[in-house]
Amino acid sequence: MKCPFCGDVDTQVIDSRVSEEGDSIRRRRRCTACNKRFTTYETAELRMPQIVKQNGNREEFTRDKLRTSFMRALHKRPVSTELVDAAIERIYQKVLSLGERELPSLQIGEMVMHELHKLDKVAYIRFASVYRSFKDVDDFRDVIRDLDK
Ligand SMILES: [Zn+2]
Repeated sequence: MKCPFCGDVDTQVIDSRVSEEGDSIRRRRRCTACNKRFTTYETAELRMPQIVKQNGNREEFTRDKLRTSFMRALHKRPVSTELVDAAIERIYQKVLSLGERELPSLQIGEMVMHELHKLDKVAYIRFASVYRSFKDVDDFRDVIRDLDK
């Protein structure tokens, strides 16, 4: 860490302590060149990635957009809000834990398919048919065959 006073690159950590909340580390540092002291804070950066769509456009990843995808697929299906929320939360946590700055929309689509597959087969087929935009009957048959497994 560069000294903010003289710009020297050689600074020493003289004290480290974790914040009361446990979510940051405070370090006292001393510059070995000018001897001045300063404090730095270290926190985890948890940021949602940008979603890269197939046309190359980027957009924010949000819980709301994820919910919209689920709701569209689950329209009038007998699946409780609680289960949908849990599925959305699993995807949200997974995306967060990947720690990527960008993710292809296809990868999110696969995660949604995986969750829908467990929730409701009709919703799964609905989503898969739009998302994979079946080119012919064989594609569709493949998805139906997957369901039987
Ligand atoms: Zn210095």
